[in-house]
Amino acid sequence: MGDLKLYNTRTRAVERFEPMLPNVVRIYVCGLTPSAEAHLGHARSFLFFDVLRRYLEHRGYAVTYVQNVTDIDDRSIATARDEGTTYREIVQRHYAAFKDAMRRLGVRAPDVEPYATAYIPQIQEMIRELIESEHAYATQDGIYYAVKTFPRYGALSGRNTEELEAGARVEVDEHKRDPLDFALWKFAKPAEPSWEFEPYGAGRPGWHIECSAMSRDLLDPQGLGFDIHGGGADLIFPHHENEIAQSEPLMAHPPMANLWAHGGLLLFESRKMSKSLGNFEPLTALLERHDPQAIRLLFLQTGYRKVMNFTEESIGAANSVLERVKKAYRVLKAAPEGTAGLLARVEAALDDDMNTSVALAEVLRYESPPLHEFERALSLLGVAPNDSWSQENEPKWTSVQLTDSLPPITDSISMVTRHWGSDFEGTVAEVIAERNAAKARKDWKKADELRQELREHGVELIDTPEGPKWRKTGAR
Ligand SMILES: [Zn+2]
Repeated sequence: MGDLKLYNTRTRAVERFEPMLPNVVRIYVCGLTPSAEAHLGHARSFLFFDVLRRYLEHRGYAVTYVQNVTDIDDRSIATARDEGTTYREIVQRHYAAFKDAMRRLGVRAPDVEPYATAYIPQIQEMIRELIESEHAYATQDGIYYAVKTFPRYGALSGRNTEELEAGARVEVDEHKRDPLDFALWKFAKPAEPSWEFEPYGAGRPGWHIECSAMSRDLLDPQGLGFDIHGGGADLIFPHHENEIAQSEPLMAHPPMANLWAHGGLLLFESRKMSKSLGNFEPLTALLERHDPQAIRLLFLQTGYRKVMNFTEESIGAANSVLERVKKAYRVLKAAPEGTAGLLARVEAALDDDMNTSVALAEVLRYESPPLHEFERALSLLGVAPNDSWSQENEPKWTSVQLTDSLPPITDSISMVTRHWGSDFEGTVAEVIAERNAAKARKDWKKADELRQELREHGVELIDTPEGPKWRKTGAR
C-alpha cells in the first residue's frame, strides 16, 4: 500500500499521515448537541469520519475513536422548560433518534461516547489549572478564558485577534475583561441544573472546555498530543480555536492534535439548512423517504471537504447508483472468481486525501473483480450487502407517466375513491401523482405519508432522474 495523504487544516497542506505512536491512531470528533433533531449536515460529517476510521483500520491501525455528546447547553435547558420536562429527557430523545439514524446509514458507533455531564470533575480540574496559570479568571457571572494570554489564538482558522475584536459583541449579562474572552464555566441561575465547584461557585460548563477536558482524559493524559481531531468546517471557529487555546497552554508538547480534519458544509436545496428558512428536514424524516444506502452513496460521491448541495434530484441519481452496485454484486456472486486489482485502485483513491468519489467510481467501473475484493471495497465505503441485494426474482421497476390527463386530486376524494385491487396500477399512479404534487409544494410530511401508504400496500417507490419508479415488494 502507498502512503495515506490527508489534508491538515492546521498546516493548510495535504500531508503524509503517520500516527504518533506505532500502529495506534487516536481520533476525537466533536459530537452532537442533542438539544434538537439532528439534520443531514451532521450525518455527512460523521459519515466521513466513519469511512476514515474504516480505512485506517484496513491499513492495520488500532483506532480509538471518541465522539462526545454535549448533553447540556442553553437550548436543551430552554426546551425542557418549555415542555415541562428535564434536559436529560430532551437529550435522550434526540440522541436515541440520532443513534438510530447513524445505524441506518451504516455509521459505526464510536468506541467511546463521553457525555459532558459525566466529566464534570475533569472539566473543573482543567479550569482550575487555567486559572492557576492565569489563562482564566472569575467574574460575577462565570469563569472566562483570557484570549489575549494565548498568542497563537486564531492560527487554526487564519484570523487575527484585532479583526476578531472589531466584530465581537458582549451580551448584556456577561462580565468579561475582553470581548473575545469566552466562558469556561457559567455560574448557576435559578432553576437551572448546576454542579458544585469550590471555591468558585456552582454552575455548569461552557461547550468548548468540555471537548478539551474529555479529549485530554480519554486520549492524551500526558499532554503530548493525539493524532486526529475532527468536526464539521463550521466548528473551526470559534469552537476548535477555543479548544486549542484551552488545551495547549497546559500541555507538555503541543499541538493538541497533529492533524485537524474538517468536513465541508452541506446545503439543502441550494440553501444553508435552517429551521427559520423552512428548508430543514430532520434526519429521521429523510431516512423514511430515502434508502439510507443511497444517501450514503450520495455523500461519498462528493469530496468530503467540498460544499455539497443535497437536492431531491441528486438523491434520485444516487438511487440509480445503488441499483448499479446491487446489480454488479449479483453478477459477481454468480461468478465470484475474477481479475484482481479493484481493491488496490480503491486504496489508491482513498490514499489521495480520502477521495471517496474516485473510490466509488472504481467500484462502479468493475471489470469482473473477484467477489471478495468487491465486497471489501464496499465495506471500506461502509456499504454492506443486505437481503434485498440478492433477490433472484427481482421485480422490475415501473415508470410512471405523469401527464396532465390525470385528474386533479383532492385529499378527500382520493382517500375515499381509491380502489386498491380493482385498478391497482391506476391507483399507484394516482398516489404517486399526488405525492409529486406534495413534493412540489415542499410538503414533505404529506409526501411521506403517501409513500408510507404505498408501502402498506406492498409498493416500493424510488425517485430517479427519469422520475419516480415503483415495484411490488410482495410484502402485502
Ligand atoms: Zn468539540
